[in-house]
Amino acid sequence: MELNVEIDNHSGFCYGVVRAIEQAEKYLDENKELNSLGSIVHNSTEIERLKQKGLRIIDYSQMSTLKDKVLFIRAHGEPPSSYKIAKENKLRIIDCTCPVVLKLQERVKKNYKELKKNDGQLLIFGKHGHAEVNGLIGQVDGDAFIIEKNSDLDLVDYSKPVYIFSQTTKDPGEYRKICELIKQRIESVGGPADKFRAFNTICGQVSSRHPHLKEFAKKHSVIIFVSGKESSNGKILYELCCSVNPRSYSVESKQEINKDWFRSGDSVGVCGATSTPKWLLEEVAEYLNNLSNG
Ligand code: SF4
Repeated sequence: MELNVEIDNHSGFCYGVVRAIEQAEKYLDENKELNSLGSIVHNSTEIERLKQKGLRIIDYSQMSTLKDKVLFIRAHGEPPSSYKIAKENKLRIIDCTCPVVLKLQERVKKNYKELKKNDGQLLIFGKHGHAEVNGLIGQVDGDAFIIEKNSDLDLVDYSKPVYIFSQTTKDPGEYRKICELIKQRIESVGGPADKFRAFNTICGQVSSRHPHLKEFAKKHSVIIFVSGKESSNGKILYELCCSVNPRSYSVESKQEINKDWFRSGDSVGVCGATSTPKWLLEEVAEYLNNLSNG
């Protein structure tokens, strides 16, 4: 079977994830043990590699019993309550909150104060329970509506001022649609249209991938999208591939690839999410090249 395989050179870890992994590895090379609050990256293969070096993934209940250790905070960021517990438990923090997320946390906090003076409501377009969203609503003591789907908009009072921020990894098109719906609802109740503010807070590293990936998926006969099943950015980008190429398949590793997906002469595009390591894309491409040669 002859296959032409191309790796998308825009895929792979984003800046924030590269930075976090580099810092964790640097620490592990010298210390052999590091407690990370949650998974550094939503990719089980990469996590396995880091675990071999001594990384331990802990949850909130484990953190509360941890004393005098080093705690790693990943790129998604954390709410102030986590820093408080860390301080009480004398944990030394390696803080790898992505600078883009950190800036967003500050903007949420600052604008919330202004909004509350006018009895307004804060909305976060994001996924319920996602670490970054938890970090954002933690800045305002949970006083925000999380908008994950259209029906979540029913909870908002449109006669009052509304500010909305987006989780950094959301789909820019979906965010635009949600903002449009909010405008319509404000209009329908005669609410204060001039008091609606939609902040453009989707990370440039994410939004710039959408148009590029669409073109990449269109030009190949088959797309192998490599991503952890837990990655929300992965789900969005995979759906984008499916929307332009019905022969798109999502896998976590080469083991999940099915030879029946291919026909001789196919051009195969290998791409992934912001949490997919480059080495994993190369491994998948190599496997496909071997299929082609074998
Ligand atoms: S997607 Fe953007 S905001 Fe999120 S970790 Fe990566 S660089 Fe930072």
